[in-house]
Amino acid sequence: MLFLFDIDGTLLRRMPPAHRQAVCDGARAVYGVELTPPDLGQTAGMTDSAIAWRLLTERGVPAETITRGLPAFFVAAAEAYERHVPADLRPYQIAHVTEALAWLRERGAALGLVTGNIQRIAWTKLGAAGLAEWFGCGAFGDEAAAREELPPRAVARARAVFGRDFAPERVYIIGDTPADIACGAAGRYRTVGVATGSEHSLEHLRACDPDYLFEDMRGIRTIPL
Ligand SMILES: [Mg+2]
Repeated sequence: MLFLFDIDGTLLRRMPPAHRQAVCDGARAVYGVELTPPDLGQTAGMTDSAIAWRLLTERGVPAETITRGLPAFFVAAAEAYERHVPADLRPYQIAHVTEALAWLRERGAALGLVTGNIQRIAWTKLGAAGLAEWFGCGAFGDEAAAREELPPRAVARARAVFGRDFAPERVYIIGDTPADIACGAAGRYRTVGVATGSEHSLEHLRACDPDYLFEDMRGIRTIPL
């Protein structure tokens, strides 16, 4: 089986706003658009690409200009993130995460990521949090604006990295927002909601009808594997 984890609100939370600042810095460097972290508004569950599209469209940047600038934007944002990120993000690990990862690994599960983060930001963030080495593959927010496009990419990569096939019913998409549940359901994968994020309560996630729903990562142990 393959477990694909979201990052923000699922593995880590309440971090200083280095990622938001990085998006602002990237937008200024590449598009000349001035933003501050609060301008990003509600971003839970969104890919960094979708966040960039929303902000830049609101500021009147034409679609073709956005598209042309995105590769440079991803690099500029990642470089800015590396300047702003605290050296140690371990204090922002959500409780019970490492125990859940260890429990899954002991049972032979392959572990990966499905995150809206730009890939380079994702690995920097997880490295600073001491979590990077758990994950063998992933799909990331600089690969598509629509989160639904990410799980199939992550599953294809897992096949290459782990050297085995994963049937959809053996793939679990884990996250803290309705968007995580929706992207898993779109690919007919198993969906796991965890109410550890800042925006969505257990009741809110229940309305999205995930296959499994937990208050925190301790619930992972109740999945019959
Ligand atoms: Mg999240």
